[in-house]
Amino acid sequence: MRGSILPFAYSDGALCVDGTPLAETVAGSGTPAYVYSLDAMVSRHQAISDAYAPLGAQVYYSVKANSNLSVLRALGRVAAGFDVVSGGELTRALAAGMDPARISFAGVGKTDDELGLAVKHGLIVHVESAEELHRLQAVAAGLGTRVRFGLRINPGITVDTLVHMQTGSDRAKFGVPAAEAGELLARSAAGHLPNLDPVGVHMHVGSQIPNPADMVAAAEVLLGVLETGRSLGLSRMRRLDLGGGFPVDYGDSPGPLPQPADFAAALAPVLAGREVELVLEPGRWITGPAGVLVARVLFRKQTPAGRMLVLDTGMHHFARPALYQAIHRILPLRAAPSAGFAEVVGPICESTDRISARADLPELAPGDLVAIMDAGAYGMVLASNYNSQPRPPELVVEGGRARVARRRETWQDLMALED
Ligand SMILES: *Cc1c(COP(=O)(O)O)cnc(C)c1O
Repeated sequence: MRGSILPFAYSDGALCVDGTPLAETVAGSGTPAYVYSLDAMVSRHQAISDAYAPLGAQVYYSVKANSNLSVLRALGRVAAGFDVVSGGELTRALAAGMDPARISFAGVGKTDDELGLAVKHGLIVHVESAEELHRLQAVAAGLGTRVRFGLRINPGITVDTLVHMQTGSDRAKFGVPAAEAGELLARSAAGHLPNLDPVGVHMHVGSQIPNPADMVAAAEVLLGVLETGRSLGLSRMRRLDLGGGFPVDYGDSPGPLPQPADFAAALAPVLAGREVELVLEPGRWITGPAGVLVARVLFRKQTPAGRMLVLDTGMHHFARPALYQAIHRILPLRAAPSAGFAEVVGPICESTDRISARADLPELAPGDLVAIMDAGAYGMVLASNYNSQPRPPELVVEGGRARVARRRETWQDLMALED
């Protein structure tokens, strides 16, 4: 089913997911609870595919944004493939039924166990250093088989995004510079990496990319490496994987953000006539706006700075504000006139446990419910058990019906691995 790409909206004063009041959705599970619209995730994935259809792009999904199995099963039905960054994510992708030939494996620190799994399953490995390339050769030779790889290129471009989200500058830990990539491909062409098949180049220059021109500049660097490989006789080098990074409007953007179609339009002239298989691997744009974290007000306080609300969730369940100073909208489940700004904090014994410094909210009392918006990406995947707090359940809505996709952890669960 094709849902709205923005599934959360008020109807008769109630904040709804796909038309059903969120208060009803979480009535059985209690709070806090993550709620995702799977139909919206699928529609958002399709929207990127549609925007890039003129360029013939394959749209993979970056599993790290939200790796719940129900999310992976739903996106696995429409995605061209998955991008994973660990053996754990690979295990999830396979459990969700993804064809391993359509899984790519990125990450700067893969272990021998992880490289072995990748080789056995026939993934595409995105190699991030000369030493990793030689480990991959050794692992594939040890298993007596061949494996496809792409070189992750560090294009040496600083994207104008939050400093924590930059991954493509020449100081970043990711990938190899274009010049070094040329040397590695020459070694491959000379037969020194006999178990490895070079199929292309990869990059991921950062998240929340504000300007399509940054993506284009980096893509030009990658195209240069592709040409180098082909001129060395590596004729299978066709894959141009431009990573993820489409920006989501968290409500703090001064102007309209570029949409996937704007990125596609900016890339079109650069790609015209080039024989490439274009691949993307967005995460945040697909799942972020399709999820919320529903929480309950526990207490109200007054500080010299004004009104404060204490929720039953915080940085342990939703780390982005503490980790990246990210700003998220907080909306009441029952609409009411604004009572001005409130500081919204969680129960964790850390001053960084603040979800919002300034949330515009109505008068709220203990027991009232709020939704932390755009929490479908980098939410539950970053949750921890700090302060021995159980992690919340994940509820998914599909075809208008909600179900528990992952149950709430219990206090007993927290001790299950200890003797
Ligand atoms: C995180 C990541 C992505 C997805 O980034 P978004 O900003 O969520 O789109 C894609 N590719 C790689 C290699 C990543 O590490």
